[in-house]
Amino acid sequence: MGGSYDLIVIGAGPAGLAAAWRAAQRGMKVALLERADHVGGLAASFEVAGVRVDQGSHRLDPNTPAHLLSDLQGLLGSDLQHRRRSSRIRMGEQWLTLPLRADEVARRLPPSLLARVARDSALSAFRRAESDTYDAVVRSRVGSAIYDRVYGPLAEKQWGMPGDRISSEHARRHTARLGALRVAGRAMVRSGRGKSAKPGGYYYPRTGFGQLVESLASAATDAGVEIRCEAEVDRVRVTEEEVEVSTQDSDVITGGLVFSTLPLPVLARISRPAPSLTSIESSARLRYRAMLLVYVVHEGGRWTPHDSHDIPDPRTPVVRISEPTNYRDNPDDPTDRSVLCAEIPCAMTDEVWGLDDESLADLVDETLGLTGLPGVRRSHVETRRIGQVYPIYRAGYENDFSDVDTWARMIRRVVTLGRQGLFLLDNIDQALLMAYDAVDAIRDDGRFDRYAWTVARERFHRSASPH
Ligand SMILES: Cc1cc2nc3c(=O)[nH]c(=O)nc-3n(C[C@H](O)[C@H](O)[C@H](O)COP(=O)(O)OP(=O)(O)OC[C@H]3O[C@@H](n4cnc5c(N)ncnc54)[C@H](O)[C@@H]3O)c2cc1C
Repeated sequence: MGGSYDLIVIGAGPAGLAAAWRAAQRGMKVALLERADHVGGLAASFEVAGVRVDQGSHRLDPNTPAHLLSDLQGLLGSDLQHRRRSSRIRMGEQWLTLPLRADEVARRLPPSLLARVARDSALSAFRRAESDTYDAVVRSRVGSAIYDRVYGPLAEKQWGMPGDRISSEHARRHTARLGALRVAGRAMVRSGRGKSAKPGGYYYPRTGFGQLVESLASAATDAGVEIRCEAEVDRVRVTEEEVEVSTQDSDVITGGLVFSTLPLPVLARISRPAPSLTSIESSARLRYRAMLLVYVVHEGGRWTPHDSHDIPDPRTPVVRISEPTNYRDNPDDPTDRSVLCAEIPCAMTDEVWGLDDESLADLVDETLGLTGLPGVRRSHVETRRIGQVYPIYRAGYENDFSDVDTWARMIRRVVTLGRQGLFLLDNIDQALLMAYDAVDAIRDDGRFDRYAWTVARERFHRSASPH
């Protein structure tokens, strides 16, 4: 490929695609380099047994800002469907609708648990977190009855450590979910007569969540972006006049500006000049949780009428099982089979990471049995392993992040963004808005407005995100 560009974007996930598209629309010459053989990052879809599936449960937030939603509607037209949520969560021995409905909670939970939830809720105004950890903050908000059954076990499965070792930052980012449980709790105090959380809705593309990133990639290509897949970046070298970006197959291109959505520790490792030893050590302590996705093909039609099932139960490592065809209304989806997607967050050193497909399918079967879900008539199973999925906010991670981020902010002509680049547990709408803001911070003379970008970054870090 070679060549010289106004902007080189590293990573063709939602953030990279949107940035490349918007910059090309402004008339910039843009190259987009992606390690995988396809675009889309975590938001991509692919086919299993003729059914389009996502990499875990994905939905577009119904509160996506109007201008962004309008761009996405412009790309997808009527294929961007508004859907009613049909999710459930396991609480004790029951499956409850999400967002929680006070009447259902009051009817289905055992009286002893209800009494504890109601007491916790009544006392919530007087509780203060005793320390700055996820455990303390969430307990103070939802009470111990719900924490011990839902948030504690979910957090431990998701992050691989108990809530008292997780930073309170995660609690802040789960505000929306906490709200739904508090509404239910308060309503129970009023004997189930109160208002419940509003029924949930979301946007979802007709042929899978990945349709969204595929349409962004087409728009970017039409606007002139050169997208190159199977181009793993292994060196970013900053010189006085430009930045040189090299890929593993020894291609070198140069740019006036680079947007990197690489994981921050990777950028620290491959950048020249290299960061200080202290920053490298700090970056090595920034960890990401991996994710194992198990796709089980079920013969005989839909498996359930629900889109997803959240599973806090500590007896299984599976945190959620989704059924992609239930997220959309697509007449082209097969009617004689469906696919379940089980999400297993883990470390790459965990035993489960090395299990073969059949053993993982058995693990899913066990999970269904443990949680009272219907069995599957399994005809096929396949798995995907993703190494870097969730930034882990262990208590005290803030100092390490700040150290590496301070270095990254000072690299000339290089801007970090996206989920991995900012070590941010973001949603796709936030990743896209980040990309828009980054491109808008490029001045007409090609220089990057660090002030405008810093203001935008502060906004992302303040906003809440459950994924
Ligand atoms: C299980 C799960 C459920 C989710 N559910 C939702 C949801 O319901 N709603 C929602 O809005 N969001 C959801 N998200 C979040 C959403 O997927 C992310 O917000 C979004 O994908 C982030 O986009 P990004 O571009 O910042 O990062 P990524 O999607 O991670 O993209 C980064 C890209 O960089 C590439 N890359 C990495 N290293 C290199 C290299 N050396 N050279 C070149 N390229 C490289 C990667 O291959 C990848 O394509 C979910 C995420 C997960 C994991």
